Amino acid sequence: MRGVEAFKELTEEVAEWRHYLHEHPELEYALYNTATFVAEKLASFGINHIETGIAETGIVALIQGELGDGPTIGLRADMDALPIMEASNKPWSSKVPGKMHGCGHDGHTAMLLGAAKYLANTRNFKGTVALIFQPAEEDGRGGEKMVQEGIMERFGVSRVFGMHNYPGLEVGKFMICSGPIQGGLDDFDLIVKGKGGHASTPHHNIDPIVIGAQIIVGLQALVSRCVDPREAFVISVTKMHAGDAYNIIPQNAEISGTVRYIEPHLPKFAEKAILQVAQGIARGFGADVDFDYRRLEPITVNHEAETRLAVEAARGLVGAKAVDDRMKPGMGAEDFAYMLQARPGAYIFLGNGATASVHNPAYDFDDDALPYGIGYWVNLVEGALAA
Ligand SMILES: [Zn+2]
Ligand SMILES: [Zn+2]
Repeated sequence: MRGVEAFKELTEEVAEWRHYLHEHPELEYALYNTATFVAEKLASFGINHIETGIAETGIVALIQGELGDGPTIGLRADMDALPIMEASNKPWSSKVPGKMHGCGHDGHTAMLLGAAKYLANTRNFKGTVALIFQPAEEDGRGGEKMVQEGIMERFGVSRVFGMHNYPGLEVGKFMICSGPIQGGLDDFDLIVKGKGGHASTPHHNIDPIVIGAQIIVGLQALVSRCVDPREAFVISVTKMHAGDAYNIIPQNAEISGTVRYIEPHLPKFAEKAILQVAQGIARGFGADVDFDYRRLEPITVNHEAETRLAVEAARGLVGAKAVDDRMKPGMGAEDFAYMLQARPGAYIFLGNGATASVHNPAYDFDDDALPYGIGYWVNLVEGALAA
């Protein structure tokens, strides 16, 4: 296990890669320039097993250790940006209007490249490291698609690890927990079907706006009155559309939102209960609802033994006190969940300091965090694949 000083000499070069990626953000699966950049860098480190075009623009590259045969572990970085107009005012701000690396995936990609360079030089481990660069994390499908395209089987990956930066946590600190670490994500759409008419004669109509407003309040009561208060559960109504004029009661109102949870039994409950509440309120006024509920991303669940390996790697780098191994799970979703369903592994958070939050136009990955992320990957490999 090496302390962070061993990785600081890489920082300047990795920061240059990060700035290049930041200036050239790409979205979802269309990561053509990003993937080319990553593949060329990997080849320049002397890595000769590089497979591109997985899940469209994903990459898996293999580095063999020099300490003999052993298992293969996967290290995953996400590469995609967000459809946001950047307002960070950094010299390396996005050159593509309306697109920016607002979640720090430029930092994640650069850190895994930095670790790849180090590991390809030193090869101080047994077995094999599989570097997994995935597209479309924000879309929530890239990780799933890489698993569906068989990367775990094809490359013999037996354990898999992920990392994400965390604004608000000091640079040089890590957070993780065993078990659920990020919530599951479902979305829903409701159409309240009323009866439109003149705004001056509400008694001749069935007003979907008033009914919709009561449904929204009813859904919040579902959270506070029908779910065990010890179980984290969120229903957020995030869209509401109805009407076009001052003097018309519209025919329909559309309500959409998202559901987040840590307990695996809650999506089934939510799907049933949201419909019951919405239907009950609507029918009470002579209206009805159409309802669509979609289970999108599973809960991200860390495995116990791999969480221990991750904690050891981070503590070896920054000391015991700088690694919180009992963080409270977050409610945001993460498509690394699909990789953790396929293989045991662990996902860890890396401090990004007092920056704007992820997905904010002023956000930027903190370059000071680079050697911590690189060092974490190297320690993890040398620990998990020690001779
Ligand atoms: Zn994000
Ligand atoms: Zn992200």
